[in-house]
Amino acid sequence: MNVLVINAGSSSLKYQLIDMDTQAVLAKGLCERIGIEGSRLKHTPEGKDSVTLESPMRDHSDAIKMVIDALVDKNHGVIADMSAIDAVGHRVVHGGEYFNQSVIVDDDVKKKIDECSMLAPLHNPANLIGIEACQKAMPGVPMVAVFDTAFHQTMPAEAYMYALPYEYYDKYKIRKYGFHGTSHYYVANRCAAMMGKAIEDLRIITLHLGNGSSITAVNKGKSVDTSMGFTPLAGVPMGTRSGVIDPAIVTFLMEKEGLSVAETDAMLNKKSGVFGISGLSSDFRDLDEAAAKGDEKAKLALSMFEYSVKRYIGFYAAAMGGVDAIVFTAGVGENSIQMRERILADMEFMGIACDAEKNNVRGKETEITKDGAKVRSFVIPTNEELTIALDTQKLLKK
Ligand code: AMP
Repeated sequence: MNVLVINAGSSSLKYQLIDMDTQAVLAKGLCERIGIEGSRLKHTPEGKDSVTLESPMRDHSDAIKMVIDALVDKNHGVIADMSAIDAVGHRVVHGGEYFNQSVIVDDDVKKKIDECSMLAPLHNPANLIGIEACQKAMPGVPMVAVFDTAFHQTMPAEAYMYALPYEYYDKYKIRKYGFHGTSHYYVANRCAAMMGKAIEDLRIITLHLGNGSSITAVNKGKSVDTSMGFTPLAGVPMGTRSGVIDPAIVTFLMEKEGLSVAETDAMLNKKSGVFGISGLSSDFRDLDEAAAKGDEKAKLALSMFEYSVKRYIGFYAAAMGGVDAIVFTAGVGENSIQMRERILADMEFMGIACDAEKNNVRGKETEITKDGAKVRSFVIPTNEELTIALDTQKLLKK
């Protein structure tokens, strides 16, 4: 069985074709500048060089057609024809309170994804366009929607409610949803497998640290709290996002600086985080370099990130009555040896300690626990595409 995994953005579309018998990625690629001049497709067949195909893509339907053409092409294709695509798994950012697991797409599902656009105006409309473009190009092929929020639907009300007038929850569904759910689910389950234990017997803190970062408390396989909130702005400081701040700062600055709603939104989402503090870059590699040369603001940005992640480890250990394992994933979590070491430093009192030699690794499934430490620590590269494909396969087998 081959599953095509689609992650559609407003002007981009990422894809992977996965052979579910071997879990091998047959091909992957990215359509960029959809609906904009200069649109192109970068297609990488397994074990071969990438090819870049430039051709106008007026909309996502054109993009999907180009993807299918690339997949069946006699030079760089990987399947004989379209009938070798058995199902399509779509990443959908927001499932609101409707979806606590992946679903086969029908008209009702599409209607609900559309309703959730209010909660994710940049993402859900694009995800829906991706689904509809695939339905048009591949009539009869089952489509599955896999939601970033679904894994976190198990959080208890005391974790997901905000202490605001209750009417806003009734009226606008203002609550914590959490994001990166597919990633947290995948790495928590890989962690249990690496420990040779049932996930139901474990309390795991998963640290998805990338350009966007979120931290989740996974108790007995279920998300019981997570650092992102109503939107992906909450939690730790990120590349350009502020993370949690005193909410009164927002109204104070709007008044003092005369900022509009849109300007405030841009300030919090695009000009803050480690970029805002350092004034240099949102990329942790740039910050490492600048800090090594003595740049004080870069040092402060990295220290704030480290401290903030540490706080969540303490917070979530308390929430679960202890912790058995810590997992690092995503760009920073998988690759920054230094940041992992800093986050895990001075935590012996909790039974957490990292082995410097084992921690000297990038992008590879590895245990980095210091001998004798009670809490085990791991680096586990995330694989959201495989999780989406596995969910798709599971639903179709039902
Ligand atoms: P992601 O959003 O998961 O793709 O992660 C992107 C982030 O990972 C960027 O801020 C990169 O700077 C960071 N990253 C990637 N490789 C490294 C590395 N070797 N050291 C530090 N940060 C890294």
